[in-house]
Amino acid sequence: MTTFFKHSLEAPRTDLTNITRQVAQDVAESGVISGIAVVYCPHTTAGITINENADPDVVHDLLLGLDAAFPDRRQFRHGEGNSSAHLKSSCIGASETVLIENGSLVLGTWQSIYFCEFDPPRHRTYYVKVVSN
Ligand code: ZN
Repeated sequence: MTTFFKHSLEAPRTDLTNITRQVAQDVAESGVISGIAVVYCPHTTAGITINENADPDVVHDLLLGLDAAFPDRRQFRHGEGNSSAHLKSSCIGASETVLIENGSLVLGTWQSIYFCEFDPPRHRTYYVKVVSN
């Protein structure tokens, strides 16, 4: 029984990619009926979040809000020049934990799991660990 999954994705632009279907497939493959799924990204300018899947304007507005909250500043010292992406990554966080009951992810009707890219273009990785209780 596999409970650890590694996935990669191409992130050509700043965006949120809905990865819920993949995570649900991992849970199904794991055979876990009751437990948790941890979705984790090993990057410092990307993140994982849960938010609305119905209206695509929500993703647009999230990105707009993050841009407003974390603009590029000339006072930044980090030589790579992507401090704003590092700030967004820490704000969003590197992981989400989702409950599993009856073999399914416990998500609200409007909730999906998103991989968040803040410093494109990048080739990215995320992991899913499924744990039974
Ligand atoms: Zn950097």
